Amino acid sequence: MLPSDLAAEREVVQVVLGHGPQIPLDYTCPVGGVSEGTLVRVPFRRTAQVGLVVSHRPAEVAAARLRPISEVLGPALGDAGEALFVARALRQRYLCTWPQAVAPLLPGARGFEPEAARWEVAASLTEAEISELGRRAPRQFAALAALRSGPRPLALALAQPLAKKGLIRRHHPAPPRLPRGGGPELTEAQAAALQTLRRGRGGTHLLFGVTGSGKTEIYFRLIEDALAAGRGALLLVPEIALTAQLVDLVQARFGNRAAVLHSAVGEAARHSAMRRLHEGLADVVVGPRSAVFAPIDPGVVIVDEQHEASYQQEEAPRYHAQDVALWRAARRNATLVLGSATPDLATFQAASEGRIGLVELPERVAGRPLPEVQLVDLRRTPGRIFTPELTQAVRESLRQGQQAILLLNRRGYHPSMICTACGHVPTCPQCSVAVAYHDGGEAVCHLCGWREKAPGRCPECQGRLRLLGTGTQRVAQAAEETWQGARVLRLDRDAVQRVGGADRVYGAFRRGEADILVGTQMVAKGFDFPLVTAVGVVIADIGLGQPDYRAAERTFQLLMQVTGRAGRAEHPGRAIIQAYDPDHPAFRYASRHDYRGFAEQELRERRRGGYPPFGELLLIGYSGIEERSVMELALRRTDVIRQRAASGVRVLGPAPAPISRAKGRYRWQTLLIAPRREALRATALAMGPLQEADGLREAFFFDPRQFR
Ligand code: ADP
Ligand code: ZN
Repeated sequence: MLPSDLAAEREVVQVVLGHGPQIPLDYTCPVGGVSEGTLVRVPFRRTAQVGLVVSHRPAEVAAARLRPISEVLGPALGDAGEALFVARALRQRYLCTWPQAVAPLLPGARGFEPEAARWEVAASLTEAEISELGRRAPRQFAALAALRSGPRPLALALAQPLAKKGLIRRHHPAPPRLPRGGGPELTEAQAAALQTLRRGRGGTHLLFGVTGSGKTEIYFRLIEDALAAGRGALLLVPEIALTAQLVDLVQARFGNRAAVLHSAVGEAARHSAMRRLHEGLADVVVGPRSAVFAPIDPGVVIVDEQHEASYQQEEAPRYHAQDVALWRAARRNATLVLGSATPDLATFQAASEGRIGLVELPERVAGRPLPEVQLVDLRRTPGRIFTPELTQAVRESLRQGQQAILLLNRRGYHPSMICTACGHVPTCPQCSVAVAYHDGGEAVCHLCGWREKAPGRCPECQGRLRLLGTGTQRVAQAAEETWQGARVLRLDRDAVQRVGGADRVYGAFRRGEADILVGTQMVAKGFDFPLVTAVGVVIADIGLGQPDYRAAERTFQLLMQVTGRAGRAEHPGRAIIQAYDPDHPAFRYASRHDYRGFAEQELRERRRGGYPPFGELLLIGYSGIEERSVMELALRRTDVIRQRAASGVRVLGPAPAPISRAKGRYRWQTLLIAPRREALRATALAMGPLQEADGLREAFFFDPRQFR
């Protein structure tokens, strides 16, 4: 065939591979054959790879030497236009590369395996056509004969020619019927909230409901609405391991129409869930942040516990699942519901200003009271882990056969060691943080996971080492000593690794196999424990010292969550917050369950400093193996920023990062603050790409979760 003929029938499209070069690659395909946002399989070097078509090239591009697309797989996200929109938004919002923006839209290694498709006989087949086939292509004839007894998978080499002739087609089964009923009669407050959400169909709403107010049942009714309208639903949860109970409820309610997407369920289970979605067998998706890319048509998108930090992806593309949920809901005209008892302040502010809807559930179901919370000053009882108030509260609950939860957001036995002779603090060889002392005499880095036998003597001067501070292991031991005879369970990352899964620990505690659950923030989430009537926060101040403008907000949210674990069933609960600085607003407002009071005070401070949601932040990080070159790079690039910064941009730094060395890499940073995100974006683009290599990196971290 001559090149001119080729150009007449074929066109050129640009394809981005998830792990390929930064720029889109040219391939040919039949004219009009592939729209932008479609997944395709293409040859790349010596391999076959899946990529996303992002644009069409002008007709004059010479097509003769380009390789053709090998296979068209179908629209990403189930809708090509939406997929392209999301990929572009990721690139634009987080300043990531094309491959980074496209990677989350590509199905897992085998998720889109066309062999997974089932085929059925096309209705138009005549006896004459069949016998004709039997003579000329016996293998195709045999395949066709097999299909006549019902839909089944076929090898692609057989299916493709048959499909081309119009003899067979992809089988799309009707979704199974919904198991009817289930779910309690709504309370008046729930019914009113649901009505408001239904009236605001297609919009974005904050569902602001205290812990135990019955948000889950509202989610389920909205999901049923979506299914009744012939659409699907997307329910995002912070972490599957910590929300096993909610996942169970979804499966009980929606049966096999529910698909749980989660990397930890294993490749095979994930593959089968994806296949059920592609085949239309399942249409209710539950999963953590990556599930926001599920290939369905959602009539409703729900982000449960929307304030949780796990919705933020830490590696490029550094997307926030709520941002992506917003884009998808807008494209699909879906209702977006953001549920929380302690919404992140930016979302709360948007709702207060009326930019998104605000639906409130201010009371617990069945008039159950919120627990009584007492703030106790730790300075009055130096050297003790539990104050008399906490000791008494827990004893009281245990005496009545009820349970207690103790929170300390720090793992290990002692969080650090110090030499009594020279003051040296042993640190991780990879990171600039002190190592913690763990059970069994191990030194552990909580940043990178490095562990080794703890030194017996100071590595610098051979002096005696003292163990400092309190971690969850120490608290668990102290609990056994204080409440004699009580059965204590521990839940933190170490315990989960040992006993195999948070749900195992949750399950045991819920079945009453222990009296006291001690742990990190993991104990604040997850299961509903009806027998818990006492909650203690051992040291509430941990976390306030974090170099993050959200430190107070995060601490407040955690306290509200953990105190909300007490008294969720028929027995009223109480909570004790122990703190070194009990006057801190995060503690005062949490002890009164006063979210609005906290929000007003904190938002006032933010407004004064120009922090989100009243301004935008861009943190630019520099890292490398060699300290000096990282510093030089940071200084040089920050000069460029200062020269090219858009107006209104404040440039702070460069300075060593709060954790100045992590996983063997030195880190510097520069912080940009501006009233508008656009100014930050313009500044970042004006810097131009970083030229040097040598393992030096520059990374952009935009503050997530903003409403335009
Ligand atoms: P939230 O998610 O708002 O913290 P949940 O949805 O877990 O609260 O509900 C709290 C408890 O109330 C659960 O045990 C739930 O089964 C129960 N519940 C919710 N709605 C109702 C209702 N309408 N009638 C009776 N019990 C309900
Ligand atoms: Zn480390």
